[in-house]
Amino acid sequence: MPPIEARPKGSRSPRSAEERAITVGVSDARLGFIKALVIAVNRETGEASFDPLTGRGSNFCDSVGFGLLEWSDWGKRTGSMDLPFDLISTDFDGTIFEEFETPSIAHEFERRIAWLQERGVKWVINTGRSYDSLMLSLEQADLSVTPNYLVLVEREIHIWKNGRFAGHDVWNEQCEDKHASLFELIRMDVRELSEWVRATFPGTHVYSDAHSPMCVTARCNEESDAIQIRMQEYCETHPELVWVRNDVHSRFSHIEFSKGTALREIAERLDIPAERIFAAGDELNDLPMLRADVAGFLAAPANAVPEVREQVESEGGYVATRSFAAGVDEAIGRLLE
Ligand SMILES: [Mg+2]
Repeated sequence: MPPIEARPKGSRSPRSAEERAITVGVSDARLGFIKALVIAVNRETGEASFDPLTGRGSNFCDSVGFGLLEWSDWGKRTGSMDLPFDLISTDFDGTIFEEFETPSIAHEFERRIAWLQERGVKWVINTGRSYDSLMLSLEQADLSVTPNYLVLVEREIHIWKNGRFAGHDVWNEQCEDKHASLFELIRMDVRELSEWVRATFPGTHVYSDAHSPMCVTARCNEESDAIQIRMQEYCETHPELVWVRNDVHSRFSHIEFSKGTALREIAERLDIPAERIFAAGDELNDLPMLRADVAGFLAAPANAVPEVREQVESEGGYVATRSFAAGVDEAIGRLLE
């Protein structure tokens, strides 16, 4: 995937050691993110001995510039206490978007998001899609609202700031590094597993891409079921490895990076507890975020797969009577009654 953006440019001119310390000290009372920088500061020299944001050596000014920009991007928790939630996480395909519907995203959902955002609620599109693919469909849907955050490929986090999406670099770099290490471990086995799929289910599309060394598009859900069983057996040999499935599409991923852990990361940065988060999804890859310990309010549109409807209900959530975005809007509406 091509890089989405460059980090926002800040004008962080080198100043005296004392001035630098004061700048950081003011930020100390805010988020833990900035506090970490304070720990790193050597007030004698104004230099940081390590960079707590990335774990890599860098000079102090770079660290502070990066840290303050990151902090301002995340912003403060501004949700209204008269609403039951401050953060909404919605899957995209099948949950709010259906390309064969007109409109592809129901207008009532769009109006609902605009109303909520005006009141300080943040909206995350939490999807398995890549950036380009998502942007294309959002453009086609001609939405008047913009998500505050994106979770892409079920793992990367991006923040809407100054008219564009900027990556949450710390998270995304960790994500990339851990996936690279894990995928290197299974590299030799992937060839054998791919050959098994091709031989057992001729016509199945087996390929690698920038996000996984093995991706599968099965011809039908029955074959996708059988492939999933085989791959989950293999995952038992590597505790960090998971087989992530969305309908007939599947791929290997790292257990620490999912729609659920990404949503938790966003919520942590915004200082929003799980009980003030709403999450909605329709497919198997949504299950990691459709848990009561991740989001206090769970919902599934009527078209969700049985496993999702069952989990949402068992976790105390709501399965809507309507499909797609209209169903999500129905679930939100019930909470606001
Ligand atoms: Mg979906």
